[in-house]
Amino acid sequence: MIQLYIPLNFLGVIYREIKQSLADMERLFSLLDQNREVADGKEAKTLATHGAQVAFSNVNFSYEAKRQILFDVDFTIAAGTTTAVVGHSGSGKSTLSRLLFRFYDVNSGALTIDGQDLRNVTQESLRRAIGIVPQDTVLFNDTIEYNIAYGKPGASKNDIIAAARAASIHDFIETLPDGYATMVGERGLKLSGGEKQRVAIARTLLKDPAILIFDEATSALDSKAEQAIQAQLKEIAKNRTTLVIAHRLSTVADAEQILVLDHGRIVERGTHQALLAANGLYAQMWERQQARQEEEAEGAAESPLD
Ligand code: ADP
Ligand code: MG
Repeated sequence: MIQLYIPLNFLGVIYREIKQSLADMERLFSLLDQNREVADGKEAKTLATHGAQVAFSNVNFSYEAKRQILFDVDFTIAAGTTTAVVGHSGSGKSTLSRLLFRFYDVNSGALTIDGQDLRNVTQESLRRAIGIVPQDTVLFNDTIEYNIAYGKPGASKNDIIAAARAASIHDFIETLPDGYATMVGERGLKLSGGEKQRVAIARTLLKDPAILIFDEATSALDSKAEQAIQAQLKEIAKNRTTLVIAHRLSTVADAEQILVLDHGRIVERGTHQALLAANGLYAQMWERQQARQEEEAEGAAESPLD
């Protein structure tokens, strides 16, 4: 009896641990498709946020010794404001979000949140402070409730429902035969890109982070779905420090600050109006997209910037 019980219980614990760590790995790897390459220092402290000002100070970074990706990147996202980063594919936009999540450490320069160097805070507290709405939301093979609650382990059903409502997915969930207990993911009900994105938004709302990262968060959607989600993202971003990485310039025009990244360097910065007036790279990109949108309006297929 005891002999049988212990191994089974032991296996149960291991199974839960594996499941949890797989979920974490799946989450970390799939959202930013990157490895964890850093460890907490002995003196690492809990990150304390008050407004969450984010600062990149003269950041140089390379994944591999031979190829530098970011050059002297220097900008501040004032507490509670939105900074958008635009630039062609491969210019280093997603790398900024990976550094902010501290998947990697900078080669030189520093990254701080409210003055605390990311290298001096625990990764657990850092990642608790940051919510990510990724390009492609991966759902776990579990219930839709589990998938939302993942944002905040131990959340009450009421909190989960409130988050789902705020993300405009509650009514949809209620139409499902098993409601919140409906299995989703690869082996369950397949959700559309827009529905998955709403689950991700509900998850993020539940997590309630001080800092938000949207990495091309709406690129998997058609224009109409994108507009709907965009309004929601704006709502979530209110009063949070937000880094938006976007291919479509229409989605970033009202950010407090826009950075134009080119081959790992910030080549232009300012508001949408100021950048248009400067008539540089941003203005060029804007014109190209406007032309594309007109084509689209005439029925041509939509495609992102690059
Ligand atoms: P963007 O998001 O602007 O398209 P990324 O930040 O993803 O660009 O990538 C910037 C550059 O870094 C690209 O040239 C890309 O190939 C390179 N890169 C991205 N991830 C890695 C990695 N894990 N190892 C090596 N190079 C990488
Ligand atoms: Mg990217």
